[in-house]
Amino acid sequence: MPAAPPTAVPYAPTAFAAPPQLAPDGRRNLVGLSRERLAHEMEVLGEKPFRAKQLWHWIYYRGVGDFAAITNLSKRFRAVLEDKFVVACPAVSADQTSADGTRKWLLRMIDGHEVEAVHIPETDRGALCVSSQVGCTLSCRFCYTGTQKLARNLDAAEIVGQVMLARDMLGEWPSPRGARKISNIVLMGMGEPLYNYDHVATAMKIVMDAEGIAISKRRITLSTAGVVPMIERCGAELGVNLAISLHATNDDLRNQLVPLNRKYPIAQLMAACRGYPSGGNTRRITFEYIMLDGINDSPAEARALVRLIAGIPAKVNLIPFNPWPGAPYGRSSARAIRAFAEIVNNAGYASPVRKPRGEDIMAACGQLKSASVRTQKTRAMSEGLAARS
Ligand code: SAH
Repeated sequence: MPAAPPTAVPYAPTAFAAPPQLAPDGRRNLVGLSRERLAHEMEVLGEKPFRAKQLWHWIYYRGVGDFAAITNLSKRFRAVLEDKFVVACPAVSADQTSADGTRKWLLRMIDGHEVEAVHIPETDRGALCVSSQVGCTLSCRFCYTGTQKLARNLDAAEIVGQVMLARDMLGEWPSPRGARKISNIVLMGMGEPLYNYDHVATAMKIVMDAEGIAISKRRITLSTAGVVPMIERCGAELGVNLAISLHATNDDLRNQLVPLNRKYPIAQLMAACRGYPSGGNTRRITFEYIMLDGINDSPAEARALVRLIAGIPAKVNLIPFNPWPGAPYGRSSARAIRAFAEIVNNAGYASPVRKPRGEDIMAACGQLKSASVRTQKTRAMSEGLAARS
């Protein structure tokens, strides 16, 4: 009898659980299975654990999803795999490129739900902004995604699938050793990653694995609105870079902007940040601070921010508010942003102003909102999972 696979206790509310990853013909998806889980599946088939290592290499290092192309496995075994499994990623519903090179994909899951992933290229590197949920429960007042109700969590396959799909689209297989178009991952797309921790963690461990996609934890940033009880675990288990969507320096204002603050107020959040594992200069916590005209952008607030983060190895990312239809706020003036940045900078914290990218295709921070609500009922389920070849 093969040993039972390790099972993680799902942190996510089960009502939001993703559907099982089944192709329309009932075959299971190998993408998103942890290494241990993949080894277990091989054991169940009566194969040596070494098979899992081989498959891992083909799927995550070479990006091959067609079992027939896996030349170092016997014909017989390939047929067995073909019979039971698929290697599948989300399907592309829309593919838009901004004038500045930012590229946004609307991706369709097996049940018709859709999320967005965004590639933000720089000269010799690039970040992929990945979603963790369909919609979001947090209802931050300034965020477009927050106006979309949470439909469900993404599972590990759907999170890793965004990275694989983006690599397909950018022609980045096998995992390059030198410069990469996708050198960094930011969990800053739709959803709150720490409300879907187990799936996010499984997915990030797959992405980090040195024998596959191989994007190191130092190049992965998880952004949270402040799910305090999960921050410590994230630091201990994943050790990725942490970004905190702070946006206000007192609880009154933060309660309004980020309602989650009523549950985990600023003092608790800061204590969790102080406990987050750092490793010198490169492991600073990023505090994201959205610049809302006349709301949180005064010099007094810049000084309060500096006091709040005193002693934390940190940088402050100032994000000019990106407008969306019906948004209740406006973007701070360039002057106000400059003055704010200067105060923070003079206090010894790097305070880059985030350049809005992909605004013309609604791909900038806070502008992601899928059309899933509109499309999910009309699309056939079978369209939602695209086998790779
Ligand atoms: N739920 C997580 C992950 C989403 S990250 C979090 O809140 O961190 C999305 C980032 O974009 C956050 O820093 C968020 O505060 C920011 N953002 C949301 N709406 C925005 C908008 N309209 N303009 C600019 N930034 C926005």
